[in-house]
Amino acid sequence: MSIFTKIINGEIPSYKIAENDHFFAFLDINPNAKGHTLVVPKKEENKLFDLSKEEYLSLMDFSYKVAKAIEKAIPCKRVGMSVIGLEVPHVHVHLIPLQGMEDIQFQKKVSLSKEELITIAKKISDCFE
Ligand code: AMP
Repeated sequence: MSIFTKIINGEIPSYKIAENDHFFAFLDINPNAKGHTLVVPKKEENKLFDLSKEEYLSLMDFSYKVAKAIEKAIPCKRVGMSVIGLEVPHVHVHLIPLQGMEDIQFQKKVSLSKEELITIAKKISDCFE
């Protein structure tokens, strides 16, 4: 069972943003930037392009809605999207509020307190439609 499945099942705590029957969105615990969010299919699949076309398109549809909420809640130039998965073998879309290129390079990390993460998650969640 992946760490993200444990988060989805509530066995590991997370800063939840939104969920539906098939997807779960929460804050990245080691964010590139304030508001860095992960969108995960509840079905545990390793690689993005192992999803069926339908699952892939549904993941993009849910990610679109989450990105819209991030754009509303977090001041940024735009929201960037990246799929990597070298660390956690459970498909996840990174949605990152960008001020510059360094925010999508996965080198610079920001340190946020628990209280800040709670506040950010609530802000984005409140903008989710
Ligand atoms: P990657 O698999 O390379 O796309 O990276 C996995 C991402 O998951 C990293 O950005 C981690 O900070 C993030 N991550 C790992 N464990 C957790 C967790 N328990 N809660 C939130 N994010 C996590």
